[in-house]
Amino acid sequence: MPAYDYRCRTCDTRFEVRRGVDEPEVPVDCPRGHGATSRIFTPVAVGGAASAPATPAASGGCCGGGCCG
Ligand SMILES: [Zn+2]
Repeated sequence: MPAYDYRCRTCDTRFEVRRGVDEPEVPVDCPRGHGATSRIFTPVAVGGAASAPATPAASGGCCGGGCCG
């Protein structure tokens, strides 16, 4: 289950909430009880980003689609 960062706009507390991927937009209260929170969008480090160079149209070759025989 992913964790999302939120920040309270009232007391400026930053906290983390774990919840399902289908409900990241559901409002949450800050640990101090304030309801005015906003989600912080942090860049997600994708594993293996440096191991696979970008190869666009990798599947667009003739033999990749079964047209060669
Ligand atoms: Zn607060």
